Amino acid sequence: MTISCDVAVLGGGTGGYVAAIRAAQLGKSVVVIEQDKLGGTCLHRGCIPSKSLLRSAEVYAEMNESENYGIETDGVRLVFPKVQRRKEAVVEQLHQGVQYLMRKNKIQVLKGKGRIIGPSIFSPRSGAVAVELEDGEMETVVPAHLIIATGSRPRVLPGLAPDGQAILSSEEALTLEELPASMIIVGGGVIGVEWASMLADFGVQVTVVEAAGQLLPQEDEEVARELQRLLKKRGVKILTGTLVDAESCRVTAAGVTIGARKGDKLEQLSAEKLLVSVGRVANVENIGLENTDIRFDKGVIEVNANMQTGEPHIYAIGDCIGGLQLAHAASHEGIRAVEHLAGEPLQPYHTHLIPRCVYTRPEVASVGYSEKEAAEKGHDVITGKFPFSAIGKAVVHGLKDGFVKVVADKTTRDILGVQMIGPHVTDLIGEAALAQVLDATPWEIGEAIHAHPTLSEAIGEAMLAVDGRAIGM
Ligand code: FAD
Repeated sequence: MTISCDVAVLGGGTGGYVAAIRAAQLGKSVVVIEQDKLGGTCLHRGCIPSKSLLRSAEVYAEMNESENYGIETDGVRLVFPKVQRRKEAVVEQLHQGVQYLMRKNKIQVLKGKGRIIGPSIFSPRSGAVAVELEDGEMETVVPAHLIIATGSRPRVLPGLAPDGQAILSSEEALTLEELPASMIIVGGGVIGVEWASMLADFGVQVTVVEAAGQLLPQEDEEVARELQRLLKKRGVKILTGTLVDAESCRVTAAGVTIGARKGDKLEQLSAEKLLVSVGRVANVENIGLENTDIRFDKGVIEVNANMQTGEPHIYAIGDCIGGLQLAHAASHEGIRAVEHLAGEPLQPYHTHLIPRCVYTRPEVASVGYSEKEAAEKGHDVITGKFPFSAIGKAVVHGLKDGFVKVVADKTTRDILGVQMIGPHVTDLIGEAALAQVLDATPWEIGEAIHAHPTLSEAIGEAMLAVDGRAIGM
């Protein structure tokens, strides 16, 4: 059978389903082709399940520290299978929500694997999609515009292929039924440090091995140093500037052993399980790109600022185009692609203004340039910094670690970036992102009255600190 529509979306993850909804809002007929479950990586194997586990870990840690708040308990018991059941319920609730949105917006969802076909009897140009449905039947979708949103999958390190038992990918780790006593985490990026923080709170012995000189290599050095200090304080062993020797990896009855090398120093590590979290690769194979004039660069689909590929009626968004590979970037790009194909006016897309959040304890969040990046871009940099230890609400909550750092241009006074580590900073980063979109100066944000006692006072104070006007320090 053949289905004609205005917009077809290949992949129903965060980027794809948001694009589909926006297209329906603009009066387009829309078909989403999804081989698995609507919601994609973020909902089923990424953001949501990981944050649900992190929340349980946080509750457990807080209960173990409840004496600090004058509350004595008779023993706190962690029942990990129940933690997993809660996570599944959270995911399912949100999954139902996405399915409801498809129905509400009259979006047709085809469950099957799609592959782009070249010019054919169905369409004189490439961009039609042959879909192999669950029952083996074939369907052809012929859209005026196609949006590719096929996402990404965990990167595999040669010699450290996940086996789902001793060696885990970040997706397999999410489904563990029992916690191991110890875990080696290869890769100290966002996923690696979130797992390190979570497992440490659950009482697991954790070793993180990171090749770069700091955890979170993309983030501000000061922030990364603070995170490292705080994780170490909670018992996490952290080896930076260190490479694992995959060839030396051995799986035994007791778990895993592997060599880790820093310069000429070789250390033997062992743990019950090993988690590989070394980034993600775009899903660009077996989707028929060879039938099109779509170009690739370094394994990701090349697009222009309007999200158009080498074939202007075919767009690509989200993890499959590389970049920051974040859910909110994917959905923003989805909306952008749809608005472009519908002839709506577009604002410029500044990818460095995508907020970046890490859900460790404490959290890390940033937007714009770090101090180092701003200097590399030729700015004469001035910074303002304010610690949470001087913020009333942080003290009340017993969450005093961390700081807010503002990076500004000394001459123009433009805000170039904001980096934070501390309580609930993933919620606070919105103000900093807005400040940058509105081209505000630190003085203007400092002028906005921040309610007391709130954690947002740390932002106001850090902004004032740029001009040496912070009150609380
Ligand atoms: P995906 O969500 O990967 O969706 C792609 C969809 O396409 C999938 O459903 C797939 O089944 C489907 N598909 C692929 N090929 C085909 C085909 N041929 N036919 C039909 N369907 C196909 N991001 C954040 O912003 N915040 C976080 O806290 C966060 N935490 C994360 C934690 C983990 C452990 C991981 C792994 C990722 C996390 N991310 C987070 C990243 C986030 O999940 C991704 O950036 C986001 O899911 C990308 O959305 P997408 O639509 O591009 O791709």
